[in-house]
Amino acid sequence: MNLKASFTTKSASSRLRFREIIVADRMTKSQRSYTMSRIKSKGNQSTELKTVAIFKEYGIKGWRRNQKVEGNPDFIFRQQKVAIFIDGCFWHGCPKCYIPPKSNIAYWETKIARNRKRDRTITKVLTGKNWTVLRFWEHSLMRPKYVANKVLHALSAIEPIDKN
Ligand SMILES: [Zn+2]
Repeated sequence: MNLKASFTTKSASSRLRFREIIVADRMTKSQRSYTMSRIKSKGNQSTELKTVAIFKEYGIKGWRRNQKVEGNPDFIFRQQKVAIFIDGCFWHGCPKCYIPPKSNIAYWETKIARNRKRDRTITKVLTGKNWTVLRFWEHSLMRPKYVANKVLHALSAIEPIDKN
């Protein structure tokens, strides 16, 4: 066992936890549970799993996760150059679901505005490189048919590159 490596990993994760606790303690109790529930949904495995379940239900194949594509799309279809992002309703400021936190208002406003700006930039960059970009709000995963239709349409609109 590499003791040094395990020590480093452990201390890095404790540092992270420590920072989260400091941030959490600046908030009221209800604010904290609101925020923490949303922090948990960041980068979110359950969001990804829900999307995978939709793909399976509708027989959508050929998706890949964790690929090295600019902006780190949640899913890509490499042959058709379709990139899919599932935007968390809190982190990306969903017009339907986002409720501004009651404390640290300026901090959250800046952070979410920055996220939205980055989303737009990434979409523009990928589109410029001939990717079709689909962005879904996290809440739209509750409508699997809607999501599946959009994805199927994007995939069928484009012939796979290596088909000929
Ligand atoms: Zn939403």
